[in-house]
Amino acid sequence: MFLDQDIAQVLVSQTQIEKETKRLAAEVSNDYKDKYPIVVGLLKGCIPFMSDLIKHLDFHLEMGFMDVSSYHGGTESTVDVKIEKDLSMPVKDRHILIAEDIVDSGRTLNAVINLLRSRGAKSIEVVTMLDKPEGRKIDYKPKYIGVSIPKVFVVGYGLDYQERYRNVPYVGILKPKVYET
Ligand code: 5GP
Ligand code: MG
Repeated sequence: MFLDQDIAQVLVSQTQIEKETKRLAAEVSNDYKDKYPIVVGLLKGCIPFMSDLIKHLDFHLEMGFMDVSSYHGGTESTVDVKIEKDLSMPVKDRHILIAEDIVDSGRTLNAVINLLRSRGAKSIEVVTMLDKPEGRKIDYKPKYIGVSIPKVFVVGYGLDYQERYRNVPYVGILKPKVYET
């Protein structure tokens, strides 16, 4: 691909993504058979992962989307989440499975979980393709994790650098020259 030339190192290949996605889908399918959950994708990073995942989910579900941006102002432990786009359905008494691209500090997820809990969701779990456990500022462990990676900035498979590279089909590290231009 043309975009390959900006990538210094592939961290998670397409083959590995496919394998882990199927493994996660089997686990989730086992747990959600009779729960008719809302699978909530956090835009825009969730798109490739959620799209691949749901094709292997063998139970009834609804899809929902939220777009949230977090402002880490004030103290380290607080986060204000601005809802750019809210869910279009009520979550009261519903099982919620949040689909994320990556969990780093855990702040975004924490805020979204608190919000959905306050609205009366019956259960809230998270399925994430990537996890950066070393980045955690809030003690939270997603129930379903694809691949754990070290504390490096990655792009691809939904993850962006200045809104670019989301369409790269694998997860990689950018070449330093990309940040210079
Ligand atoms: P948290 O609130 O867990 O720190 O933030 C999670 C969000 O930060 C992710 O949904 C993603 O948008 C962004 N993020 C965290 N780590 C990375 C990374 O390595 N690369 C990119 N492109 N975004 C990241
Ligand atoms: Mg995100």
